[in-house]
Amino acid sequence: MTARILVVDDIPANVKLLEARLVAEYFEVLTAEDGMTALEICDRTHVDVILLDVMMPGINGFEVCERLKANPKTAHIPVVMVTALDQPEDRVRGLKAGADDFLTKPVNDLQLISRVKSLVRLKTLTDELRARAETAKHVGIADVLRAGDGQLEDKGSIMVVDGRGSSQERLVRTLQPIAEVHSMSDPQAALFEAAENSFDLIIVNSNFDDYDPLRLCSQLRSLERTRMIPLLIVTEQGDEQMIIRALELGVNDYIIRPVDPNELVARSLTQIRRKRYNDRLRANVTQSIELAVTDGLTGLSNRRYLDSHLKVLFNRALVRGRPMSLCITDIDRFKMVNDTYGHDAGDEVLKEFASRIRSAVRGADLACRYGGEEFVIVMPDTPRDVAALVAERLRQAVESKPFTIRSRDEEVSVTASVGISTTSASLSGPEELLKLADQALYTAKNSGRNRVVEAA
Ligand code: GH3
Ligand code: MG
Ligand code: MG
Repeated sequence: MTARILVVDDIPANVKLLEARLVAEYFEVLTAEDGMTALEICDRTHVDVILLDVMMPGINGFEVCERLKANPKTAHIPVVMVTALDQPEDRVRGLKAGADDFLTKPVNDLQLISRVKSLVRLKTLTDELRARAETAKHVGIADVLRAGDGQLEDKGSIMVVDGRGSSQERLVRTLQPIAEVHSMSDPQAALFEAAENSFDLIIVNSNFDDYDPLRLCSQLRSLERTRMIPLLIVTEQGDEQMIIRALELGVNDYIIRPVDPNELVARSLTQIRRKRYNDRLRANVTQSIELAVTDGLTGLSNRRYLDSHLKVLFNRALVRGRPMSLCITDIDRFKMVNDTYGHDAGDEVLKEFASRIRSAVRGADLACRYGGEEFVIVMPDTPRDVAALVAERLRQAVESKPFTIRSRDEEVSVTASVGISTTSASLSGPEELLKLADQALYTAKNSGRNRVVEAA
């Protein structure tokens, strides 16, 4: 993971120390010795995470943080406040100023690197979302993305797994203002609970008498249904070994007892936010893929999808030595529907036509809108005679019942012609399968329409 970290501290020795540790982890480091310089750097260049000292001459760390968060250009950059250990009230002020995380001086190596990595991951996701929102705006589908906006700010849901009643109660009380909290004492029951529900964060307190909390973490990481849920572990002071093992297992963050409520809230919010971004991105990708391969009017697959998927199905049939059939259907005299009832009525007929196709074919068949009023159905594992039956069933499904035009409260009779083809040893490829069916369709049109013709 490479990222650009800005280290801000008025004492050069502190800057040097942090810089050396970050560079050793292959981060790129920028430095500033006062707040104004820091703001200037953020305004002028790309920064992924800021480590910000609180006590500085001129404008202090809180002010720098407030200004960064108030500027739309820099508001999304995560800020880590570096505070003195004996000033717990600094954390509250930092939170109010919009800080995303804290580190206490003297800065512990493990903490430094795990916090920075965690925030860099979050930043990467935010950047990706911002980039997509930008693209979406350009191509005019901003609304599709904006629909999910509120989601990021909704209250999260957290599961707390803690073997002791008193500490469990404290954790729950601390987290209640920011989330729905579900608490569990038995780790195995917690695993089931996690698989059944959709939590945004799971917090495991490592205080069990006779159970290794890392076992639960490892199980949560390996279950398909829970592996994407952020995990935060609460550990004992000085138990660096457990922290290192936990991070290796994929635990996202840790917090050391005694738990500082502000720190717990800040870290939990960071994890929840990251989970939300992640979910959004994934939903977004799925949605873009769907949009790209779906016909907007009928909801069937589009030609682009058919072109790529037909090859896959064709090769699979070949490898398995199974027959595959293809059917092309084209609505008869469709131009007349448009001319008589208008284009919108034509669209209604197309939608209804698609839905009749859907009910005439099996789930394993691939139905696509191939062009205007032309549809293709690919039927894997289907020999010629069965394909002929399906095609005839489809032809009848169209002819048997008039199509309703709701917008005009009228009915129109529609027929369709169908051409079918089936794989055979002499076939050169999927294109030829399509071509043969198309020729059969042409024959059906020329011999009177409203009929099924099999390829020669
Ligand atoms: P044939 O029996 O020979 O197939 O006659 P046809 O009128 O159906 O064939 P032709 O290819 O001449 O006309 C197809 C018509 O389909 C012309 C076009 O305007 C119409 N069409 C194509 N796409 C759409 C669409 O998305 N919506 C509507 N309403 N009409 C469409
Ligand atoms: Mg037609
Ligand atoms: Mg046509």
